[in-house]
Amino acid sequence: MKELKILYLYPDILELYGDFGNIQVLQYRLEKRGIRAIIVPYSIGDDAPNFNDYDLVFGGGGADQEQGILAEDLLQYKDNIKQAINNGVFFLLICGSYQLFGKYYKGVEGNIISGLEIFDYYTEALADRKKRCIGNIVIETKLNERKTKIIGFENHGGQTFDVATPFGDVLFGNGNKFGDTQEGFFMDNVIATYLHGPLLSKNPELADYIIKHCLDRKYKDNIILNPLNDEFENKCREQLLSKFLNN
Ligand code: GLN
Repeated sequence: MKELKILYLYPDILELYGDFGNIQVLQYRLEKRGIRAIIVPYSIGDDAPNFNDYDLVFGGGGADQEQGILAEDLLQYKDNIKQAINNGVFFLLICGSYQLFGKYYKGVEGNIISGLEIFDYYTEALADRKKRCIGNIVIETKLNERKTKIIGFENHGGQTFDVATPFGDVLFGNGNKFGDTQEGFFMDNVIATYLHGPLLSKNPELADYIIKHCLDRKYKDNIILNPLNDEFENKCREQLLSKFLNN
């Protein structure tokens, strides 16, 4: 039986916006295809993980305070994470996790939280805590050169700058900062995005893209995923895209 090993970062801390749902979707879409999903949580105080031992690393979103709590712990794995990214391990990072893989995150109190500095972008929250990018969002990205709309919900004070390779173009909503035309970060085996939702529940094609990417790398093959019945998901997408893009 094929399997996929997933490292789930700080599930007890980065879980403010329901991003655990992404793990549930991955597990569902793997097991429906007879592929074992091995999900290993890691948080402060646990044995140090070797990020290279995993096929996929997932990190969710959280408030400034939680980011400050875990940043020091995360930074100790900087070299191992860099190595894993260079080795092709897939990283799916949502919002607060996204921010921490850049140079730094400046919180709403003006406090600087050091990032892993793996990517050159940086994030600064506005001093007015009421000024947050909150709402539904639709972006357009390319998955295997095929244009795909990605639907989500954003809730971040952080404004992210200097993103070299964005995840997608904003069709509705804010993006990396207020009124931005671009959202997130995408580079080969790293997708970092502000889209909660949970992201993968609203975008089954993206979930399968990530699953296939990880399986192809692990088994050195061109794995064909049996299609799942996404009728309900696609009906929801039609409704949401019509609501957000056609009004
Ligand atoms: N605390 C960060 C911000 O407000 C990240 C929020 C999140 O993870 N949704 O920008």
